[in-house]
Amino acid sequence: MQIESYIRAIPDYPKPGILFRDITPLLADGEAFRHTINVLADRYRELGVTKIVGIEARGFIFATALAYAMGIGFVPLRKPGKLPRKTVSQTYALEYGEDKLELHADDITAADKVVVVDDLLATGGTILAAVEMLKKQQATIVECAFIITLADLPGAQRLQQAKIPYYTLCSF
Ligand code: IMP
Repeated sequence: MQIESYIRAIPDYPKPGILFRDITPLLADGEAFRHTINVLADRYRELGVTKIVGIEARGFIFATALAYAMGIGFVPLRKPGKLPRKTVSQTYALEYGEDKLELHADDITAADKVVVVDDLLATGGTILAAVEMLKKQQATIVECAFIITLADLPGAQRLQQAKIPYYTLCSF
């Protein structure tokens, strides 16, 4: 099954000049969505992974389904101010300004072997912030997994430079 064919390209969204990759057709097709999750579950099943970490918001959709398929826990990395208990956080640069991710400090420990899931890798700013937080917790990062990589942006290269294993289901 060609996962690429379920991703729609939307020109000039959210602003002129941006070609937005829309994953909602993939989610809306039961067979394609299940295939996507099964490919990831088959990849990670025998590796002793303890938690699937998902990045808000679209990363949650794939990460929770994957955690369920593998019968292991899901841990959210959230936008600031959403998590009620003690958190660790990491700020990262956006094109204009900055953003921040937070993690419940006791959700991930040094005993954890995690796969981090997001829908799309672009500049790598988001995933590298996630990686920093997981390193603070001394977790082992088995791999960072994406549905889509934008190949003309430096995310994959930045992960490689940081020696973080990386996997993508499709590239545009
Ligand atoms: P990065 O931090 O530049 O790698 O951007 C990745 C983040 O931006 C991910 O969390 C994505 O959800 C989001 N993102 C950037 N471009 C797109 C897009 O074209 N479609 C869907 N999400 C996008």
